[in-house]
Amino acid sequence: MRRPLLLIYCLTALAAGLGAAAALLLLAVVEAQPLQLLSPEVLVSTLIGLLAGVVVYRLAMARWSLRSLRSTHEAVLHSMGDGLYVLDATGRIRYTNPAAERILGFDADEMIGRNAHQLFHDPSGQAHPLRCPILEAARTGEPYQNSEEYFRHKSGRAIPVDVTATPLPGRRGHAGVVTLFRDISERKRWEEELRALNRELQSQALQDGLTGLANRRALETGMQREWRRAMRTDRPLSVIMLDVDKFKPYNDHFGHPQGDEVLKTLARILEENARRPGDLAARYGGEEFTLMLPGNEEAGSRQVAEEIRQAMLDARIRQAPSGGSPYVTVSLGVAVVVAPRQHSPEQALAAADAALYEAKQAGRNRVRVTVME
Ligand code: GH3
Ligand code: MG
Ligand code: MG
Repeated sequence: MRRPLLLIYCLTALAAGLGAAAALLLLAVVEAQPLQLLSPEVLVSTLIGLLAGVVVYRLAMARWSLRSLRSTHEAVLHSMGDGLYVLDATGRIRYTNPAAERILGFDADEMIGRNAHQLFHDPSGQAHPLRCPILEAARTGEPYQNSEEYFRHKSGRAIPVDVTATPLPGRRGHAGVVTLFRDISERKRWEEELRALNRELQSQALQDGLTGLANRRALETGMQREWRRAMRTDRPLSVIMLDVDKFKPYNDHFGHPQGDEVLKTLARILEENARRPGDLAARYGGEEFTLMLPGNEEAGSRQVAEEIRQAMLDARIRQAPSGGSPYVTVSLGVAVVVAPRQHSPEQALAAADAALYEAKQAGRNRVRVTVME
C-alpha cells in the first residue's frame, strides 16, 4: 500500500472521531441545550475518534509492511538462480520457484500437488520413496545435504545437483521440507575437463612425445620400483642400453624427419621385446634407448638384446653411404644385476652404458654383456 493512501486512512479515521464530536454538539444545538465544547461526551467521542485513527493507522501500517515483505520474498524467490521447492510432510510439492521450473523442465502447474520423489527425485525410477533422503528429511526433521545428487529432468535425463533440504517445523512434528538445489552440470563438465587435462599432462610428463615410450623420468621411477621389488624377492634384474649406429650420417643424408621414423621403428621393436610384466622400454634421450628386464639373468637378457639387434637389421632400413653398412644397425650394452641389494639403478645404467661403449668399440651392430655380482 502506498503511503498517501495510508494518510487518507488516518485522516478519515480522525475525521470520523471529530465528526462524532461535532454530531454531539449539533444535537446539543438542536435540542437547544447550552453549548458545552468541553463536555465529557464531546471529549470522549473525540478521544475515541483519535484512538480509532491510531488503530486504523497501525493496522494499515502492519498490512503495508506485510505486503511489502511478501513482494520482497517473491522478488527474491523469482530472481534466485538456485531452484527451490517446498514439500509437505507426505512429499507433495506445495511451491516451486521459477529457477526450479527452468532446471527441471516442468511448469509449476505440472509440479504443484505431485509427489516430488515420483516426479523428479529419482532418476532411475527404481528407488522406493522410503529411501528418498529428501522425503526422509520431511519425515524426521533431520536436515539433508548432498553436494552431488541426481534429479530427473522432464525429458528423462539425469541432472547433477547440489541439494540442501531443510525441514519446516509444524504444529505437530514437521510440516514438510524446503529444498534448495543448484544445477552443477557446468561444474561437472569443468571437473571432467580438468581430469582429462591432468591425465594428458601426466602422460606427457611420463611419455616420450616422438615414440610414445616411457621417457627418462618414467624410466627412473620404474627402475626404483622394480629395484625395490627385486631386493624384496632377491631376484636378478637386467638393463639393456642401446644406441643407433652411425645415426649422424643417416640424418645428414636422409634428413631429420626420416631419422625420426627410424627412432619410431626402433621403439616398436623395443615394445615387442618388452613382453613380461615389469619389462619397461624407455627413450633414454636422443637416439639412446633402454629396456629394463626384471627377473632376467645373463642368458635371457643376452637373448633379448640379440633379438633386438637382429630385428633392427631385419627392418632393412637403408643406411647412408657414409654409414659404413648397408642397413641401419644398433649396438647394445647389457648390465645383468645378479644381486640388486649390492648395486643401485644408477650403477646398473652406468654399467650398461660402458658395455654399449665396448660394443661400439668392437665394431658396432653387436651386443656386449656385463654381469654385476
Ligand atoms: P655412433 O655409431 O657412434 O652412435 O654414431 P652416431 O652418429 O649415431 O652418434 P652421435 O652421437 O655422433 O650422433 C647421434 C645423432 O643422433 C646426432 C643427432 O642428430 C641424432 N639425434 C638425436 N636425437 C634425435 C632425434 O630425436 N631425431 C633424429 N632424427 N635424430 C636425433
Ligand atoms: Mg648416441
Ligand atoms: Mg649413435
